[in-house]
Order: sequence, then structure tokens, then C-alpha cells
Amino acid sequence: MLRIRAGSVHPVTAPPIEDGAVLVDDRGIIAAVGPAALVPAPSGARALEFAGASLVPGLVNTHTHLELTHLAGKNTQPAFADWIRTIRALKDATTPDGFARSAEHGLRAAWAAGVTCVADTGSTGAPLEALARLGGRGIYYQEVFGPDPAKCGASIGELQQAVARLGPLVASHLRLGVSPHAPYTVSEPLYRAVGEFARRERLPVAVHLAESRAESEFVREGSGPFAEALRARGIAVQAHHCSPVQYLVRLGVVGSGNGLAIHCVQVDGTDIESLREAGVAVAHCPRSNRAHGHGTAPLAALRRAGLRVGLGTDSVVSVGDSTLWAEAAAAGLEGEEALRMLTIEGARALGLEREIGSLEVGKQADLAVFPSTILHRPPPPSSALLTLVAGRVVHG
Ligand SMILES: [Zn+2]
Repeated sequence: MLRIRAGSVHPVTAPPIEDGAVLVDDRGIIAAVGPAALVPAPSGARALEFAGASLVPGLVNTHTHLELTHLAGKNTQPAFADWIRTIRALKDATTPDGFARSAEHGLRAAWAAGVTCVADTGSTGAPLEALARLGGRGIYYQEVFGPDPAKCGASIGELQQAVARLGPLVASHLRLGVSPHAPYTVSEPLYRAVGEFARRERLPVAVHLAESRAESEFVREGSGPFAEALRARGIAVQAHHCSPVQYLVRLGVVGSGNGLAIHCVQVDGTDIESLREAGVAVAHCPRSNRAHGHGTAPLAALRRAGLRVGLGTDSVVSVGDSTLWAEAAAAGLEGEEALRMLTIEGARALGLEREIGSLEVGKQADLAVFPSTILHRPPPPSSALLTLVAGRVVHG
């Protein structure tokens, strides 16, 4: 057993506790949480004390690309379509071993920042393998690309193969989903095929959606930089005369209740209503959106409409680091409100709120200790003193 006492304990679903403690049982489950004087101290339990620090639920990062960790600072293309192309070239130049090291490095950095659950999208499988090898918690969405409708069969075949290969790594703390990348990299028939496959296999789906203005132009008019690039490769592009959200909802890609839409910057009231009806959760990545000049996602409207929204750092290639507290600040949140968004709201967006996201008896002991008892102005330092996943120390 492990007993952790801290200057302040923040259960998130209950008010903060000054001089509190959490008791973790041998199965990695929270056995008690409350004022230190009331939390049992069984003989033989390992005791840790952090007087001037905050003990919080582990943070949930709803959008990462761990396999791209090694590319931080390596892509400075200002135009988004060029940036995407450069990412592809940089990935082509990376070996499988390079991706494995990159994902592992990214996961350890997440733990060092108090993150205990990631929703990761990638094309190599390396992030899920790193999570399984090192004992992390998360959902890994296997990406599929294929803008040419003629190559739909090959792309869906590759996806099914990858899912079959990675399937054995799935465990209570590790889930596998699929991610048809984005409207300008996935053809209409491929979207339909992935949607069907996901429904049949009951796999969660994550999509990059309504991110750039160029993407909206591509879907609505069939024009702009993404259309030009595809036409140059001899791939036909058509206008869909609707927003990216309407396009994907219509194709049935998201909407089985476990869909995650990443970004959602270019959305209006009708789009938000459609996302709500389809039960889609949103991964809000304010710093990435800002870095690429996409604009600002309407967080308040999304939350007012009752959508589940978590915060995500996106790849370190976009943002430079993976500090969730900075995402909360960029989203205009601080203190307990920021903490709620980074924990229970993130867990809810991923459908994991019964297991993680708050310090409650019976929940998984995923938690982090930050070196300050004040959670607002300035936000706590980005490095955690201690991070636990399912009761196991993964950092500190
Ligand atoms: Zn992304």
C-alpha cells in the first residue's frame, strides 16, 4: 500500500482539502482520500509526504502524437498544407527504431508533466507499443491515409492489418481505436469504409476535423492548397458544398458515441448542434491552433451545447512542448476550473470518467503531485514531483 500526504489534495469532484492524503491499495485503486488526520495509515504502507505541494488526479491529454516527439523544432513551414507535407517527408526519413525511441521519450515526458492518460494518434503503432512496454494508460488511434478513391481498398486493408497486429496489446488500461486522418488525406469511400469497420469492431474513432480554413475550402469548394496538391498528383477532387463537420457526420464516420473530433476551430452553431447530436467529444488544442494561425475554437459555445471537451497539446512539432497547464491558460482557464478540464472533463471526453479523472475511492490511482499548493496565477510548474499510473510510480 502507498499513502501520500500533501499540502493540498484536489479530488476535483469534491472541494480541495488542506493537508490531505490519499491511500492507494495494492491493486492500484484509491482506498481512501480526505484530510490527513482521517486517512488511515496502515502499518507496512509506504508513506510519502509533500508539504508544500498539490496532489491532483493525473492529467488527461486528449490529443498527442507521441511518435513525432523527435521532430520538435524540425518543421518551420508557415503554410499549413506545406507543414503537413513536410511532416510526411520527415516521417519517411524515420526508421521503426527511431519511432519507438521517439514514442517512448514522448511518454516519459508526459509522465514527467503529470499526465497519466493520453489519447494518441499515430501511423506506426509505436505509441501503443511504448504504452504497453512501459505500463502507461491511454487510447491509441491507428491512423489511416488515402486521398485517392482508387486506393481505398489498399488503405483499409493496411488499417485492418495494423489493428490485427496491435490488437493483442489492448488491456484494461490500453485501448485501440482508428483515425482516418483528415478530409484532405482521406477519400470519401475510405471514410465510409473506416466508419463501417469501426462500427463492426466497436473501435473508437478520432478525426482531425475543422482545423484550418484551407480544409474548409477544400471540403466546401474543392479548391485551395490541399486541392491543388492532390490534383497535381492526378487525384480528382470534388466540392461537397458543406462544412467539414457536416461532411463527416453525413458519412457516418463519427457518431457511434465514441467519436473524438480534434480541433473543431472552423465550426458554426449548426456544426456544434450536429456534433452534439452525434455524441462526439472534442479535443481542444488552443496552442496548436494558434501556432498554425487556424484561429480559436469556440470553447464556450461547445461546452454550453453540452459537448464533452478535453484539452490536448497536439504534437511537439506544432507547439514545442507538451504542457497541459499552458493549454488550460491558453483556453482562458485557471485554478480548479483548469484542473477540472485537465482531469475529469478530459476523462469524460474519452469515455473513461468511471475509471479516472478524479480522486475518489474505487477509482484507479492515477495521480500527480505538483510543487505548489496554489493552482492559479501562475499555474503550477509543468514538471510533477511524482506521477502514478494505476498506483505505480512512473515518475519521481
Ligand atoms: Zn493532431
